[in-house]
Amino acid sequence: MLNVDKLRQDFPILHQEVNDEPLVYLDNAATSQTPKQVLEVLKHYYEHDNANVHRGVHTLGERATSAYEGSREKIRQFINAASSKEVLLTRGTTTSLNWIARSYGDANVSEGDEIVISYMEHHSNIVPWQQLAQRKKAVLKYIDLTEDGELDMADARKKITEKTKIVALNHASNVMGVINPIETLIEFAHDVGAVMVVDGAQSAPHMSIDVQKLDADFYTFSGHKMCGPTGIGILYGKQSLLEKMEPVEFGGEMIDFVYLQESTWADLPWKFEAGTPNIAGGIGLGAAVDYLTEIGMDNIHAYEQSIVEYVLPKLQAIEGVVIYGPKDPKKRSGVIAFNIEGVHPHDVATAMDMQGVAVRAGHHCTQPLLQHLNVQSTARASFYFYNTEEEADKFIEAVIATKEFFNHGTI
Ligand code: PMP
Repeated sequence: MLNVDKLRQDFPILHQEVNDEPLVYLDNAATSQTPKQVLEVLKHYYEHDNANVHRGVHTLGERATSAYEGSREKIRQFINAASSKEVLLTRGTTTSLNWIARSYGDANVSEGDEIVISYMEHHSNIVPWQQLAQRKKAVLKYIDLTEDGELDMADARKKITEKTKIVALNHASNVMGVINPIETLIEFAHDVGAVMVVDGAQSAPHMSIDVQKLDADFYTFSGHKMCGPTGIGILYGKQSLLEKMEPVEFGGEMIDFVYLQESTWADLPWKFEAGTPNIAGGIGLGAAVDYLTEIGMDNIHAYEQSIVEYVLPKLQAIEGVVIYGPKDPKKRSGVIAFNIEGVHPHDVATAMDMQGVAVRAGHHCTQPLLQHLNVQSTARASFYFYNTEEEADKFIEAVIATKEFFNHGTI
């Protein structure tokens, strides 16, 4: 088990008061906090090694390059990719998914072909496919959900057909709190000759990922949800696919030779990475990967499961609270979307903030999901490995107090 009290010492931001109450940060699905170990690496980089990468022969340029490329190797190990050529550094999950849709999608999807996603996707894993479908006159299909808010696997089997070229699904939902059976879904895609794009924004920070074992064709995630900086993320793609794909952005760094009328491309992974990259971000993400690896992704996953097993029944026991997603805590991740009947989720989040508890409210970039569930918006608490049982208790107390306040007018 984790020594959470000790780990919390690594996060200066957690030790503050908000509205005269100790901060309970439960918005980790949106952005996680950054440990001192990562902050120190960023500071060291700017104080000692800051220079552009890849081109400089001078010492600082070489140090920056070796730290940046060293991070790529750390991330390769973190997801067990076969080669660092398969690890592209992007601005985040959104950019990664857009690149796949633009590059792989434009080259491989034609009129009448099908792209299969689900009702529980984030807008980042919907809009790029809508755009691709519109460009190519292809058909975008949605896998249904079960009563319990899980993917309907029978419907997945039915919707993924010989016409399907791309299946794009999240590994874990940012609203329903489910971890999808992604291995089986990858098999469904491969059975019909489609490629599988996995949105790992809510899984890579919380569990160990082995892209080779999964046999994922593409796997995407963001640094800022896994103790790293914002503005940096990963696009993993199988080398055989990336080799055949065209870059999406063009300019410096990604070329081999530029003639007057045409150019040739650099080798993987640089062929996709045009312009000066987010060097500090990449180095910071490498430090975040070191930090998480030291704790152990299996330990993180087990701890988060135990927190959910602790808190979910307490939330379920509060009358007038509606919880979205599976009732069985064993089926869930650390994400819990909920509503208090008769209270607007923005009011819930505001009242909870007054009690020091940070939860998110809104559509969580999943409007089709909320339309499907027939709700306007929800509140959402999302736990990470540094959240304690005491914080879970404070969260429950804050929900009860918020409910009382809107029913009786006192907190
Ligand atoms: N997919 C999922 C499931 C997410 O939760 C998020 C972030 N909320 C994204 C994609 C987009 O990630 P980013 O904003 O870091 O690009």
